[in-house]
Amino acid sequence: MTSAIDLLFRIRSPWLEDVARSLAQGENLRHSISDEISRFFDSLAETLVTGDYAALDTFLQGWLERQAASEVLAEDEDRPPDLIPVLHALRAATLDTACANLSAEEALDLISALDHVFAHATEYLARCEVRQGMQSVTARMAGFQQALERLDRSKSNFIGVAAHELKTPLTLIEGYSQMMGELLGEDDPQGQIMLDGITKGIKRLQEIVDDMIDVSMIDNDMLSLHYQPVWLNRLLELAQQDLRPVILERGHTLEVRPFPGSDEMTYADPERLLQAILNVLGNAVKYTPDGGRITVDGRRLPGFVEMTVSDTGIGINPEDQAHIFEKFNRLGNPQLHSSGKTKYLGGGPGLGLPIAKGILEGHGGAIWVESPGCDEESCPGSTFHLMIPLRSTPPSDRSEQLFGRAGGLQ
Ligand code: ADP
Repeated sequence: MTSAIDLLFRIRSPWLEDVARSLAQGENLRHSISDEISRFFDSLAETLVTGDYAALDTFLQGWLERQAASEVLAEDEDRPPDLIPVLHALRAATLDTACANLSAEEALDLISALDHVFAHATEYLARCEVRQGMQSVTARMAGFQQALERLDRSKSNFIGVAAHELKTPLTLIEGYSQMMGELLGEDDPQGQIMLDGITKGIKRLQEIVDDMIDVSMIDNDMLSLHYQPVWLNRLLELAQQDLRPVILERGHTLEVRPFPGSDEMTYADPERLLQAILNVLGNAVKYTPDGGRITVDGRRLPGFVEMTVSDTGIGINPEDQAHIFEKFNRLGNPQLHSSGKTKYLGGGPGLGLPIAKGILEGHGGAIWVESPGCDEESCPGSTFHLMIPLRSTPPSDRSEQLFGRAGGLQ
């Protein structure tokens, strides 16, 4: 009986021709694949001789790499090299050539000897192609990620520059409106009403510009925290005082419960922490219909105080709960933009929570929200959790830097 390797070599010349003809649809393509075909033949032969797939695997790996390189050159990175159909065509052509050039028995011997070699090659290519596909998707994802980060950086640079540019004319307007107030005097009530309107507008604009500057400092790791002894219950008293007029105006009830840990001294930046608390409480006021209830409570945990701010407001859908801490990610109707800081559903630029998050993370803490969902009719409410670290000493420069890095702040 003639061995499979002898049979294979016997059909080498017609095989090379038949395979090239069956694969090539044009002269160029035919030329470009002729080398690959004869290398493939050699690796088939070596595998038959040694019974080891190493030579075949080496050929297939090289084939894939050469194919991938030519596709990159052709700027067609989307499609991973698809060689399995080519392999199937090679197998079919081998069958045809064997049948045409050998006796039926010999053809059967050769085909059955080659069958497991083709099966192995198909499986090897499939595995490589999946792996390459994954690598190409991962690389593209990394590219998108970098592009997004670049976009985010330029957005944040723009916010910083715009905010600083707005600050100067705003200060001018504020100065001139004060001078106008002095000129008008008390015997011009009409003028005073108009001036009050201008002053309120200036104040709101200043708040927005200050928020823009804060958010840009947080994004650029430039927010510095000045640690001092702080008592949370005192900060909450200040917050209550600050919010009293709007709580009254909106008919809400604000209850601040004395919770474990709220009377303990900790080192923190009192101004920044108060700002974060006011942002969360201000939202509770804004997103709760008139006559609602806002409750501040908390508990002492090892190394932390967990403060909660619950409201009886419209609530937040679970899918939005992570996004509201990203800048400018306000939910709901964009028409309601900045119509008021305390008005029901008054809208705003969407910077309050990103700033609160930046401040808390800068302290080594955290913030998150829980809510069953958003419904303006049933008002399921929201509960914000603020994790504030308890520190008996201010963080050293080094640990402050580390916290800064961990939380994106310095
Ligand atoms: P702003 O209030 O200026 O829009 P924030 O960053 O403070 O921006 O809040 C982002 C979004 O999160 C808000 O637009 C609102 O949709 C939602 N949100 C925040 N707090 C509450 C709350 N207590 N109840 C319901 N929705 C809230």
